[in-house]
Amino acid sequence: MSEAGRPVKTTCPYCGTGCGVDVLVRGDATEVSGDATHPTNAGKLCVKGAALGETLVPEGRALHPMLREPAGGRELQRVSWDTALDVVAREFRRIIREDGPQAVAWYVSGQLLTEDYYVANKLVKGFVGSANIDTNSRLCMSSAVAGHKRAFGEDIVPVSYEDLEDADLVVLVGSNTAWCHPILYQRIVKAKAARPQMKVVVVDPRRTATTDAADLHLPVRAGTDVWLFNGLLSFLYQHGVVDTDFVDAHTRGFDRALAVADNTAGSVRAVARQCGVDESLIAEFYRLFARTAKTITAFSMGVNQSSAGTDKVNSIINCHLLTGRIGKPGAGPFSITGQPNAMGGREVGGLANMLAAHMDLENAQHRQLVQTFWDSPCIAERPGLKAVELFEAIESGRVKAVWIMATNPVVSLPDADQVKRALAKCEFVVVSDVMHKTDTTAYAHVLLPALAWGEKDGTVTNSERRISRQRAFLPAPGEARPDWWALAEIGRRWGFADAFAYDGPGQIFDEHARLTTFGNADDEVPRYLNLSGLVGMSAGDYDALAPVRWPVSGQDGNDPRPDAAAADAFMPRVFSDGRFYTADRKARFVATPPRLPVHARDEDFPLALNTGRVRDHWHTMTRTGLSPRLAAHIDEPYVDLHPQDALLSGVREGGLARVSTRWGSLVARVRTSGELPRRTAFVPIHWNAQYASDARVGSLVNPVVDPVSGEPEFKHTPARVEDFAVLWHGFVLSRTPLPMDQVIWWTRVTGHRFLRYEFAGRERVGEWSAFARTALGVHATDADWIEYEDRTAGQYRAAWVVDDRIEACLFVSPRPDLPSRAWLSGLFAKDRLEDLDRIGLLVGEPTDRGADAGPTVCSCFGIGRNRIVEAVRGGCHSAEALGRKLQCGTNCGSCIPELKALIATSLVPA
Ligand code: SF4
Repeated sequence: MSEAGRPVKTTCPYCGTGCGVDVLVRGDATEVSGDATHPTNAGKLCVKGAALGETLVPEGRALHPMLREPAGGRELQRVSWDTALDVVAREFRRIIREDGPQAVAWYVSGQLLTEDYYVANKLVKGFVGSANIDTNSRLCMSSAVAGHKRAFGEDIVPVSYEDLEDADLVVLVGSNTAWCHPILYQRIVKAKAARPQMKVVVVDPRRTATTDAADLHLPVRAGTDVWLFNGLLSFLYQHGVVDTDFVDAHTRGFDRALAVADNTAGSVRAVARQCGVDESLIAEFYRLFARTAKTITAFSMGVNQSSAGTDKVNSIINCHLLTGRIGKPGAGPFSITGQPNAMGGREVGGLANMLAAHMDLENAQHRQLVQTFWDSPCIAERPGLKAVELFEAIESGRVKAVWIMATNPVVSLPDADQVKRALAKCEFVVVSDVMHKTDTTAYAHVLLPALAWGEKDGTVTNSERRISRQRAFLPAPGEARPDWWALAEIGRRWGFADAFAYDGPGQIFDEHARLTTFGNADDEVPRYLNLSGLVGMSAGDYDALAPVRWPVSGQDGNDPRPDAAAADAFMPRVFSDGRFYTADRKARFVATPPRLPVHARDEDFPLALNTGRVRDHWHTMTRTGLSPRLAAHIDEPYVDLHPQDALLSGVREGGLARVSTRWGSLVARVRTSGELPRRTAFVPIHWNAQYASDARVGSLVNPVVDPVSGEPEFKHTPARVEDFAVLWHGFVLSRTPLPMDQVIWWTRVTGHRFLRYEFAGRERVGEWSAFARTALGVHATDADWIEYEDRTAGQYRAAWVVDDRIEACLFVSPRPDLPSRAWLSGLFAKDRLEDLDRIGLLVGEPTDRGADAGPTVCSCFGIGRNRIVEAVRGGCHSAEALGRKLQCGTNCGSCIPELKALIATSLVPA
C-alpha cells in the first residue's frame, strides 16, 4: 500500500512489454501514470496502460467463493472459503484416488504472477505427480520456447529492448507491434527518427499500423515464413555472408539445415512464388539483411501461432547463427511475448512439458533435483497434456477434474465450442477468476474469487527477461484472495502443510530463486536462469525490488536492489562467449522443411481466416471492456475483408456478415479497410458472450497444433463470409443494463455513464413505439418521452428523459448508417438537456455540428474523427501539426498511422 502522497510503483498487467506504472490513490480516485524510473517505458504508457484506472471498478467482480454441488444444483451458492476449499480438496483427491493423477488437470494463465505460477506448478508436478498443468501461454509463445530449446538448449531470449534501438535493421515478423506492444514500437520509431539510416522491415500478410514505420513491407502469404527464411539462409550462404569461425566453433547441424533450405527455397524466384510477394521485394529484403550486421529479427504471434510455428522460429534463428548475429549488441532473434507474465510462467515451469527453474521434465537428474528441493512425495515423470489436448481429454472423460485460473478458455481456445462441450461434461470444474460472470465461469462447480491487478502482489517478467514487481495498492474486495494462497490451502488439506507454509509472495519468490541455484553449479551444463543474487532478500528488499533482468548472479556486484540501470550495466551479454546450453555447449541449426497450414482453402471455405488483437482491447475484454476510453476506438466485433472478396461474398461495408468455418460461426460488422490481401479475412479475438450475442472467434478456429510446441494455428482457418440479412438496424444508449431479448444480434459497448447496445432484427415490428418502450423499460404512460417516426422510410427514434436528464434513447433504421453515437454520448454527460438537445433528438442530428466529435481515433486524449478532419482542412497537414493542435498522437502514438490516413483522405479533393 502507498504511503500518503507517494505513488505505488507497479507493472502494467497487459502485454509482454512490461511497462512500469505509478499509481496514486487519493480517496476514491486512482491516478495512473507511467513510471519514469522504469527502464522499459521511462514514464510512457500506451492507452491501455493509461486507462487502467477505469478498469478498477466493482462491477461484476467475483467477491465470494461460490459452490454448485457436482451432484446436481443448478445455481452457484455463496459458501465460505473453508467449505469451497474442502470441496476442491475432496473432489480432486477422490478423482486422483479412483482414476490416478492423470485424471486431474490445471489450466492456468500468463496473467498469473510468478509466485502464483510457482505454487501451482509445485502442487501439480510435485504433489499430484502429474504434469497436467498447462497455460494460455501455450496459445501465444510456446513455439518460441520450443524453438529456443531446440537451438540454444534452454529457453533464453538473447536480446534486450536496448538492442532493438541499437540495431541498424529491425525485421518485425508476424507482429503488429504498433497495436500489440505500443511502447516497444514507439521505442523503435524514436530510434529510427534519431538514426534515419536504421531500417525497418515488416513481414506480415496484412498492412497494419506497424507497416507505417516500415521501409519495406513483405505481405507474405499466410504460413509461408519458413520459405522466406530458408530462402534467406540459402541467399546468405550463396553470397558468402557467413561467420565461418562462429559456425565452425559454436554450432552444429548447418549442412543439413542448408541442404533443406537450398532444396526448398534456393532461389529468390522460388521464394517469391511461394510467398506470393514480388521478387524484387524479396531480393531487396535479402540484400538488406545481408549487408546489415546489426540486425534484430523480432517475431510474435504471426510466427508462433501456426502448425509450423516452431520451424518458423528456428528458420529465423538459423539465419542469425549463420551470420554470427547473436550475443552481440543490436543483433539477435527476439521473441516478443504477448502476455505480461508469459516469461515468468516459463521460469517456474508453468507449461505441461517443463519443470521448474528451466529444468527438463525428461531429464531424470533434473527431476531428482526438483523433487529433493521440494521434498515432495513424487514428481511428474512425463509431459502432461498441452492446452488443446487437455480439453479434448476432458471431453473424452480421461480428465475428470480441472482447475482453471485467470483465463477464459471458452472464448480463447481454438474450436471453443468443443471447450464448452468439454466443460459441460466435466465431472468437476473449479474456476478462479476476478469476474463473477464470464463465458467460462458459467461452467464452474466452484468459483473462487481472485485478486485483480492493484490488489495482488508479486513479480512478472517481460519479453526481455526483466523481472518487475506488481504491487498492491487497493484492499482485497469482498473475500477475494491470492491464487497462491488458494493453491497452498489445497496442499495443506492434502497433508503437505510444511511444503506450502508461505506467509506471502516474498517467501515464494525466495524459494523460486533458490531453486534456480539448486544444483546449478554442479550441473555439467549450468542453467542460464540463475537468480542467486535475489536469494535471501528480506521482506523489505523484496518489496523494494527494482526491475532487473535475469540472470542475477550476485557475484559480480550486480546487486539489483538499489538501481535497475546499475544492475543492467553488470549484465553479461547472453551467448557473447559463444557458449550455448546444449550438452556440447554448441547452438543447433535446425533443418526446417517448409509446410503450408494444415487446412487449405477450398470452394466452400475460400478465405483464410486470421485472428488477432485490436489496439485498445486485451484478450477477452474482462478488464478493458469496462473502460469507456478503450471501448471507444473499435466498438464492435468486425470482419475485415478485401473489397473484392466482400463483393464476391455478397456483403457490404457497414453491414452484418456471418463468418463460418467447419468448426463454428459468428456474426460481425463488415469492414473493407484495404489492409488485407485477397482471399483472407481478419476477425479480432476479444468479443465474447458478455459483450456480443455471437462473436467468439475461438469457436471458428481449427484446433490444429504445431507438432513440437502444441501451439494452435490461430492465423489460418479456411472460412466463408455471407450476408447476415436483417430487416433493421438500431442502437440504444441507456444508463442501466438492458436485456437484448427482442433482437437477433447485439453487441454492448461501455460508455461514460451509459451502456450502448448496437443491435439488429429480422422480425417485422408493427409498433415501434411499443417496441422502444419495452426495450427501454418505460412503463409509465406519462413518462417524458420524445419520439419521431417516418413509417415510409422505416426510421424511428425515441428518447426517455427523467428529471430533464436523458435516461435512454433508441434509434432504428433499415440501413446501418444511423446517427452519430459520439454526439449522443455527449448528452449523457449533461445533467440537464437543453431545448436544442431535445430538438436534436427529434431530428436525429445535433443542432450544433461542432457537438459531434465523431468516432474516437486518439483514445489517449479522446479526439474524434470529425475534429481531426476539421483540423486537417484547417491546415494541419502532418501528424505533428495535429498533435500540436489537438494533442492526438502525442502520448502512446498508436493512432499516428490512422492520423496519417485521415490526412491523406481528407486532403483528396471531393
Ligand atoms: S505497452 Fe501498453 S499494454 Fe503493454 S505493458 Fe506498456 S502500457 Fe501496458
